[in-house]
Amino acid sequence: MAIIEVKHLHKVFGDLEVLKDISFNVEEGEVICLIGPSGSGKSTLLRCLNKLEEKQDGDIVILGENISEIKKINQFRENIGMVFQHFNLFPNYTVLQNMTLAPTMLKKMSKAEAVKKAEQLLDRVGLLDKKDVYPVTLSGGQKQRVAIARALAMNPKIMLFDEPTSALDPEMVGEVLDVMKELAREGMTMVVVTHEMGFARDVADRIIFMDDGYIVEEEKPEEMFAHPKTERCRNFLASVL
Ligand code: ADP
Ligand code: MG
Repeated sequence: MAIIEVKHLHKVFGDLEVLKDISFNVEEGEVICLIGPSGSGKSTLLRCLNKLEEKQDGDIVILGENISEIKKINQFRENIGMVFQHFNLFPNYTVLQNMTLAPTMLKKMSKAEAVKKAEQLLDRVGLLDKKDVYPVTLSGGQKQRVAIARALAMNPKIMLFDEPTSALDPEMVGEVLDVMKELAREGMTMVVVTHEMGFARDVADRIIFMDDGYIVEEEKPEEMFAHPKTERCRNFLASVL
């Protein structure tokens, strides 16, 4: 079943058309990696999926619901976890408070229940011992693992990742990718903007290559890496591999 359907999506900023007739589906449990040069529209596309950006034209249907018709935006966003390049943890809250804030405020979960869930998730990403510290004391890799755990605390059905490892020192990339791999193995539906081609090759069910606001190629990883069909995709892969 398609859990995300994007049909003829267009998005403009002023005179600049940044998404041009984008169509694709994501099936339940699929991992899609979104690749392409800087400025090609990857972040904007992700942001359209959870209504952080308003589209101009086309349809986005998520979990069977056309998102243009959604009135309860917070309820809608509970289904979609998002992880950004720069973590976006709340600096003046502890790790545990970061994790329990949304579940208690938005989901009306009891404090005790939210803490229990947060501790389980922190344990899963190997950071239970950090629950009472403030984000400033964590490494980049640890911050990003908390950010992922925090998104999971809302029980999302879809996870969106926007270059989750791009701001990390190289030695911390692996620990974050490992958490994402585990999530993929457990069957989470994921759309991941990344320059980590090793991850894309190992984990993606499909790779979507974007350039200049268009989807230029959409392929299984082995096929895309072995036989990119367009010059643009070949050149891009040559620049990042
Ligand atoms: P990518 O994530 O692939 O690097 P983006 O989606 O961030 O690309 O950006 C696509 C294009 O849209 C770029 O030309 C960028 O400058 C432009 N853009 C992105 N966000 C805005 C905005 N809020 N206002 C105006 N232009 C924007
Ligand atoms: Mg981007």
